Amino acid sequence: MTTIHNLGFPRIGHRRELKFILERYWRNEASAQELAATAAQLRQRHWHLQQEAGLDLLPVNDFSLYDQILDHSLLLGAVPHRFGDLSRHSHADAAFCIAQGRDDQGWPVAAGEMTKWFDTNYHFIVPELRPGQRFGIGSEKLFQEIEQARSLGHRRIKPVLPGPLTWLWLSKAEQEDFDRLELLDDLVATYGKILTRLAGLGIEWVQLDEPALVLDLPQAWKQAYESAYTRLQAAPVNILLATYFGPLQDNLRLAATLPVAGLHVDAVRADELNMLCDHLPAYKVLSVGIIDGRDIWRSDLDACLARLAPLQARLGERLWLAPSCSLLHVPVDLDSEDGLDGELRSWLAFSVQKLDELTTLKMVLDGAGDQADEALLAARSAGISRRQSTRIHQPAVQAALDTIMPELQQRQSTYPRRRGQQITLPLLPTTTIGSFPQTPAIRKVRRDHRQGGLDDDSYRQQMRDEIAAVVRFQEQLGLDVLVHGEAERNDMVEYFGEQLDGFAFTRYGWVQSYGSRCVKPPVLFGDVSRPRPMTVDWTAYAQSLTEKPMKGMLTGPVTILNWSFVRDDQPRSTTCRQLALALRDEVLDLEQAGIRVIQIDEAALREGLPLRKADWRDYLDWAVESFRITAGGVRDSTQIHTHMCYSEFNDIMEAIAAMDADVITIETSRSRMELLDAFVDFAYPAEIGPGVYDIHSPNIPETADMVHLLEKALERIPVEHLWINPDCGLKTRAWKEVEPALKNMVQAALILRKNLQDNTPATGSDVA
Ligand code: GLN
Ligand code: ZN
Repeated sequence: MTTIHNLGFPRIGHRRELKFILERYWRNEASAQELAATAAQLRQRHWHLQQEAGLDLLPVNDFSLYDQILDHSLLLGAVPHRFGDLSRHSHADAAFCIAQGRDDQGWPVAAGEMTKWFDTNYHFIVPELRPGQRFGIGSEKLFQEIEQARSLGHRRIKPVLPGPLTWLWLSKAEQEDFDRLELLDDLVATYGKILTRLAGLGIEWVQLDEPALVLDLPQAWKQAYESAYTRLQAAPVNILLATYFGPLQDNLRLAATLPVAGLHVDAVRADELNMLCDHLPAYKVLSVGIIDGRDIWRSDLDACLARLAPLQARLGERLWLAPSCSLLHVPVDLDSEDGLDGELRSWLAFSVQKLDELTTLKMVLDGAGDQADEALLAARSAGISRRQSTRIHQPAVQAALDTIMPELQQRQSTYPRRRGQQITLPLLPTTTIGSFPQTPAIRKVRRDHRQGGLDDDSYRQQMRDEIAAVVRFQEQLGLDVLVHGEAERNDMVEYFGEQLDGFAFTRYGWVQSYGSRCVKPPVLFGDVSRPRPMTVDWTAYAQSLTEKPMKGMLTGPVTILNWSFVRDDQPRSTTCRQLALALRDEVLDLEQAGIRVIQIDEAALREGLPLRKADWRDYLDWAVESFRITAGGVRDSTQIHTHMCYSEFNDIMEAIAAMDADVITIETSRSRMELLDAFVDFAYPAEIGPGVYDIHSPNIPETADMVHLLEKALERIPVEHLWINPDCGLKTRAWKEVEPALKNMVQAALILRKNLQDNTPATGSDVA
């Protein structure tokens, strides 16, 4: 019999129940008991669903109220000193203190840093370590969830924990030069205690997640894997070491031969199964992650079976099947999607459907294929309909792609020659990143319009009123380059997806991003084209209200790609180029409408970087090419901006420069401008707007502080190249914060301009 199992189930709930109860609890509108009860119900429902699907082993401890890495830090007793003694708090409250930045007395302290989980859009709380740190079992959550599963009658359960080396790899130490591997001994000893306790509870299998094994690892870390798992061999449980998100490559031998009872590999993003079998010791289970845990497409079950049959012949019962990774990254259940048409639905699979696919595979492999006939046939016909559908394949789009020539990517002149033809601006021009506060009133107008309660004309008028107010506000403040404020946009990707052909939208396709925050990525299923202009009306209207330059505002192709569920039937690079061609038309229409400054946001360019450095080049090549296709058609006199919400450019500086934007705005206020050094070292040729204040914080930035930051920036950037702006869009802020903040920012610009003027030596003619 083939064993089927799951690495983790989404915990947010198919109606985002977890989000809502968490937020009520944080607002003191729900009790700790209510929170615990909802969490318990969700776990119960999810185990039940997985059992119904026919899994042989159910994951436990994949649930988390906030983040599983944070939970694990608490389990290991690894709490930074600044939080005080959190041991008197419940596990939940301790986690919220760290995630939200409160100490044991409730006083504000710096929150635990959040960062992206590998190349997903899930964010975890970074463990913080110090030299001499000791570990010990610091939370009962893991054991309580096992107890709950048992009390519900689940016998075959498999606790899930981050593995010691991945957890350590993802951590950070206060002192940069501290070698975190020094902590490994004590860390492994604590794992030993945890595993022993699990064995005492009758647990047979424990899943230790070690996705760090798909990364480029230093030699010392590879050795640490050997020594840690050799020591854990003594633990009286079977360890399933789970790797995912990519091929093992140079770590394959290491992963295959570590002394554990089983190895899970990602067979969707890697094709190393035969080599793995060659290296696998004869006692070891190979869990094959055959169903994609990162996307929402129905699997080609015939193709899966063709890969699995020879493995079954080699491994017999030692072959296990699972999704490639935890299903955390996909929505819960397609059955809720009553808004999608039948054809489109037939192409998709969410978590529940993916588990059904596993069951079908198992039935066929175990010789009960006749029971699986219907499922196999349905999968087959969905595959055929997807390959042939005219909704997916548009010959005109394909033909346009074939005509992409190098000239399309090329601005007419280089930046220094373009600059003189572009808008004239004061020294140190001021601008914003695009959005202004998304007030409840704005959301209501959009909602009423969407639900049919507000007709198109009234909607248009109300949005125009909003634009007019934002333009007036910016003029009164004295900003130099204005924006229309993005009131009409629900989300910077969804807004464009909704107007492009080739996208579909789900109703409940939520995926956790961090804590209670979820995103609903659009489904990019077909060839992309732009039936009509998307932003020109709003932008041209905004421009008509002012003499100041109005900045057109678009989301770039790479960001739309990286924040969507993207089709898997063609390379991502091809899809990205299609997006680029569609957006290029929008850029040209904006220019045609008299817009002289156009910003193309690439907020997600950096996060799309592949996990292995060897793959960066290829990604950056087509990502940069796509941006250049989008922007490359304009005249020299049109100024192209781009915006990125981060500041670490050191390792991708060449690509950033190759995008050939006239102005780039970035986030640097939190690093006090130090990260600008990347631009200095590279001698970045064009203009830069390093964010002068952090829009993520409700604090109002002081003028003097911004002047100081800008002086630091001026030490690094030539004055003619420096812009003044916040570090991201203002949509999440309130007007009462935005107004004084921008006032102070403009004030800072005026002070600096005056200082510069006073310090300029008089020229010859002045003296005469
Ligand atoms: N133009 C967008 C805005 O201002 C940019 C958002 C982002 O960078 N995430 O909201
Ligand atoms: Zn941003």
